[in-house]
Amino acid sequence: MMIKKKQQASQGNEYWRGTEYAFINHKKCESFPCHATDDPDNFNCLFCYCPLYALGDACGGCFQYTEGGIKDCSGCTIPHDKDNYGYITERFNEIVELTKWVKANKPSK
Ligand code: SF4
Repeated sequence: MMIKKKQQASQGNEYWRGTEYAFINHKKCESFPCHATDDPDNFNCLFCYCPLYALGDACGGCFQYTEGGIKDCSGCTIPHDKDNYGYITERFNEIVELTKWVKANKPSK
């Protein structure tokens, strides 16, 4: 599975393990848990809105498209898995490149 390979690749440098900034568990949130979980104590709320959404088909998650063409991530828990901090953050450069592409291809007025 592509997701597993990417997640394993991110385990090479786990400098973030055990840090406070890599995990937020906000049980008092009115929406907690926003996705079904059998492990609420390890549910990470840090990436509440998945940073990988902008990568479209390349995010690596298990999404579907609605009939209206909207990417629906309701079946995906990748950003909420405590072990996936590295997987998410190591892809930030792809988001940066995407923003460069959007800026370069922005229609002129
Ligand atoms: S929540 Fe899952 S499916 Fe949705 S963008 Fe993030 S990784 Fe992809």
